[in-house]
Amino acid sequence: MKFSIVAKFLLLFLIPFLALAQAKKDITTHQVTEKIYMLEGRGGNIGLCVGEDGVFMIDSKFKDLSPAIKKAIRSITDKPVKFLINTHLHGDHTGGNENFANDEVVVVAHDNVRKRMLLLQSVKGNKKDLFPSKALPVVTFSENINFYFNNEDIHIFHVNNAHTDGDALVFFKTSNVLHMGDTYFRGKYPYIDVNSGGSVEGYLNALKAGAAIANDTTKIIPGHNEVSSKKELLAYIQKITTIVERVKNAINEGKTEAEVIDDESLSEEFDATMGDRFIKPEFFRRSVYKSLTNQ
Ligand SMILES: [Zn+2]
Repeated sequence: MKFSIVAKFLLLFLIPFLALAQAKKDITTHQVTEKIYMLEGRGGNIGLCVGEDGVFMIDSKFKDLSPAIKKAIRSITDKPVKFLINTHLHGDHTGGNENFANDEVVVVAHDNVRKRMLLLQSVKGNKKDLFPSKALPVVTFSENINFYFNNEDIHIFHVNNAHTDGDALVFFKTSNVLHMGDTYFRGKYPYIDVNSGGSVEGYLNALKAGAAIANDTTKIIPGHNEVSSKKELLAYIQKITTIVERVKNAINEGKTEAEVIDDESLSEEFDATMGDRFIKPEFFRRSVYKSLTNQ
């Protein structure tokens, strides 16, 4: 009996989990334009601008993926990575920072990314290992910063209190490619990290800021999921706005957090496509409620 339970457990959970964990070391390279690439795999989408000056990189996924990421980059170019921009502090976008900093790559991010990493360093427990000193940005900015690299005008700008309080959008003006980090989840409900200074209203403003600089031919790299367009971004804004307005009305009617979480009618027509195993509809409704009521 005991053996059968253990065997079932192995068969049902452990073996598929191990297989999945192994498969998830894969990195897939997508060429977005002549100079811009997107590296897909576990964690946030990496953006690369590749040219004569070297590689300009956006986000670094998880630590254990660095060898696979470096291999993917080497298959595109022999030139070294010179700069690594973090769109925000989350570990699925910054986990590889140390491994790239060890290669003399300059890490750049918004002021609050560095501040929050330092704060997490001071927290007792295993979080300390998340952000070793070498992983910290060595250049930070408060509003925006420009790079002129690979004959590309690269404009990086901060958006206030959106997914976190340290978000940056990266616009490759010459190539007309916009990397939005986790201020855009493309087709899925977003995670709004209220505890790291995110807010649903700031998130909507960030989406609108992205839409404002994009045109019909702009390629938009979201923090997660496939390459997108302005048309899709505008449709996404509509959906999120609709849900936010409904939750606002529910709050004005005196509905409690539990009632908003339970009320499927607030988002029902979007749930089948927008909900996923990470951000379920009820989880998103809860984060909208919490953000709007400043909890
Ligand atoms: Zn994130």
